Amino acid sequence: MSAVHNVIRVRIERAADGSHRHLTGVWVQESDAGPPYTPKQVAESIREGETWHAEVDGVAVQVEPTASCPYPGCDMHPCLAILDRDGRDLLEHVASASSERNIY
Ligand SMILES: [Zn+2]
Repeated sequence: MSAVHNVIRVRIERAADGSHRHLTGVWVQESDAGPPYTPKQVAESIREGETWHAEVDGVAVQVEPTASCPYPGCDMHPCLAILDRDGRDLLEHVASASSERNIY
């Protein structure tokens, strides 16, 4: 049983001190009005062999859980990263629009 999830929307939250934003959830269905999948759920799913893909402005990327937020000094954990083929985190690119956005 290995599923591929296509992430179409992300939840981006501003850190309490306002210094940066981090990615804390993903949705896979446009019509889904419920809560997003959390980093914990994504991590568990990946452990079971599933993969989470997304596309950011035409670039195919992988959604991966990270033990903690990559921002220095931030203790938010777990977090999620959107990585392109070269391992670059595209969060800043995605986050430039709004707190919740479609990425297709
Ligand atoms: Zn953070």
